[in-house]
Amino acid sequence: MNNFDTKDIVKKYNFKFNKNLGQNFLVDDTVLIDIVEGAEIGPEDYVIEIGPGVGTLTKELLKRAKHVYSIELDNNLIPILEEELKEFDNFTLIHKDAMKADLKEIIGDKESVKLVANLPYYVTTPIITKVLNEDYNFKSLTVMIQKEVAERMNADPNCKEYGSLTTLVKYYCDTKLLRKVSPNCFIPRPKVESIVIRLDKLEKPRVDVKDKKLFFRIIRSSFNMRRKTLRNALKVLGLDKKIMEECFLESEIDPQRRGETLSLEEFCTLSNCIYNRL
Ligand code: SAM
Repeated sequence: MNNFDTKDIVKKYNFKFNKNLGQNFLVDDTVLIDIVEGAEIGPEDYVIEIGPGVGTLTKELLKRAKHVYSIELDNNLIPILEEELKEFDNFTLIHKDAMKADLKEIIGDKESVKLVANLPYYVTTPIITKVLNEDYNFKSLTVMIQKEVAERMNADPNCKEYGSLTTLVKYYCDTKLLRKVSPNCFIPRPKVESIVIRLDKLEKPRVDVKDKKLFFRIIRSSFNMRRKTLRNALKVLGLDKKIMEECFLESEIDPQRRGETLSLEEFCTLSNCIYNRL
């Protein structure tokens, strides 16, 4: 099914797509509906949308949510969004780079906040990393992203997709792949396939880590040099060799293993052992 709104609006305002801003607008109604239904948006929900484009997904969100805050960077889209969505009094448009936006200011102490977005590909990982690391009070994130990035978020140990992004997402969230989306569902057509993924924030992080910074540093170091054994990859921590060996022994992790074989729980055990000896 085609969404004539998007194409009509683009034509009406003679809008010129900016490749550098990852502008691929949705023109398929079934995908729009699957995103808002997958996110389970209801009248109690406050929604933060990143990159509303000409407002097609925004409109569907506005019909269901209590309030929608959309953050858009492109100057040229601001007057279009103001005009096209003026009938909605539950809409706030924020003209900003999402990477610089203070989401805490928007969220405040609101109860049910959900992030929904068809994210620009070039900034997908930094945005997800920022949102998770800054530990906002989101209930869920339902995002359409490049297929490969979604697969990395949803990966298991021992496969090539498993990496720092997987562990960050799994530390904070449960993941669910909702659907695949073909390049034909966008204008202009992107080169890659997309996936709609939902991340449900856990009540508390999945593992009980004593020092979050150290935990993620160990993970990053382990994956930075994927081919190296843990013993070699973790030399960058600068710890005494003997202490490191004791930590491997105590956490029952063979230092000959590679980082990509460790589960989140194993990274947690190792990181807590190291923390105890610092
Ligand atoms: N939501 C629309 C849709 O589904 O058709 C448009 C999605 S398009 C993939 C990404 C949108 O994000 C564009 O409107 C683009 O201008 C905007 N954008 C790109 N970088 C951004 C940033 N750093 N902060 C906020 N918006 C950004």
